[in-house]
Amino acid sequence: MQRKRTVTFSSNATNIFFHILTQCNLKCRHCYINPEQHGNQKLTLQTIREWLAIFAKKNKNANVIFLGGEPTLHPDLAPAIKEARQLGYSSITVDTNGYLFHDIIDNVTPDDVDYFSFSLDGATPEVNDPLRGVGSYDACTKGVRTAVSKGFDASMIFTVSRENIHDLMNMPLLLNKLGIKRFFIQIIGIRGNPAKTGADSWQVTKDEWLETVPKVAEAAAQIGITVTYPKVYLPDDEKFECAGLVADNYFIFPNSRVYRCPLCEDFPIHNMELRGNKLVERKKINEMDLFRLDIPEGCVMNKIIQPDNIIYKEDGTPLCKVACCLLKEEITPA
Ligand code: SF4
Ligand code: SF4
Repeated sequence: MQRKRTVTFSSNATNIFFHILTQCNLKCRHCYINPEQHGNQKLTLQTIREWLAIFAKKNKNANVIFLGGEPTLHPDLAPAIKEARQLGYSSITVDTNGYLFHDIIDNVTPDDVDYFSFSLDGATPEVNDPLRGVGSYDACTKGVRTAVSKGFDASMIFTVSRENIHDLMNMPLLLNKLGIKRFFIQIIGIRGNPAKTGADSWQVTKDEWLETVPKVAEAAAQIGITVTYPKVYLPDDEKFECAGLVADNYFIFPNSRVYRCPLCEDFPIHNMELRGNKLVERKKINEMDLFRLDIPEGCVMNKIIQPDNIIYKEDGTPLCKVACCLLKEEITPA
C-alpha cells in the first residue's frame, strides 16, 4: 500500500515548517523555541492564509508542517489545515505533543491531514516525563490512540540525547503497539534551552550514536515502520551537501522571520522575512552566506554552535565531516 506523503528530508525537497504560534502547554527541558528570536504572537487566520498562499505559489509540490509551540492550541488550526489542502500542498502534517486541543481530531478528517506527528522522548513515562513534563507520556500515547482509532496516519518524533539514548531500543515495540507508521529519530540540537544549559549534559558521543541509532532504525523497519534519521557523521565516501543550498526548507516564525536552517534559529541571521505579505530576502550577511563556506568539518552551523560534535585527528584535520541535519537516511520496510 502506498504511504501518504509527509515532510521529506532530502535534496530537492520543499518543506514549509510553519510555526503558527510559540505558546505551549508543556515546558520541555530541551525545547528549541526562543521567544526573543521567534516572537510570541499567535498569527491570525487571515495571516496564516496569506502566508500559506505565498509559499504555495512559490513552490510546487511543497509539504507543509504546522508547528508551534503546540499548534493545536491555535483555535484556527482546523481552517488553516483546510486552506492548505485547498491551496494544493503536496502533504499536510501537524507536529503535536499529543494533547490535541480544540478537539482538532473531530474538526478535521484523514483527507485533510496526511499525518499527525507526535513527539515522545521515551518508551515509558519514567524516561519521557522528566524531559517533557509529568503526564506528557500518558497524554501523548492517548492522543496517538485517538488519532489512529479515527483513521488518521500517525508518525512519531524522538529526540535523542544523553538522557534517553538508552531507551531508544524500546521504541519500535511501542510504535508497533500504537499503530505508528513512520518514525523520525532526531539528534538534540544545542539551541533554545539546551544552549542555556550546555552541550555536555545533552550531547551523545559518536560511538553511542553509531552503535545505537542505525540498529534501532533497522529493527523498526523490520516490523513495517518507515524510519528517518540523520547520519550526523558522514562516511568518507559520501559527498557533503548543505540543505540550505540543495533543498528548499523554510522555517516560518510568527514574528515574520523565515529561516532556511534550524541551527540558525537562535540568531537574527534569517535569510528572509514576510513584510506586508511579501516574502523578502534580507541583505547580507545572513545564514545563506554561511552555507556557502566550504570547510573541512562539513556543516558550518554545527562548527559554530555545537563544535563538540567534531572529532579531530592529531594533525588537526577532522576525522569525518558532520552531515547536514536536514538531509537524512530513510529506511523503508522490505
Ligand atoms: S512540546 Fe514542543 S514547543 Fe512545547 S515545550 Fe515541548 S518542545 Fe517546546
Ligand atoms: S544544518 Fe548545516 S549543512 Fe544543514 S542547512 Fe544548516 S548549515 Fe547547512
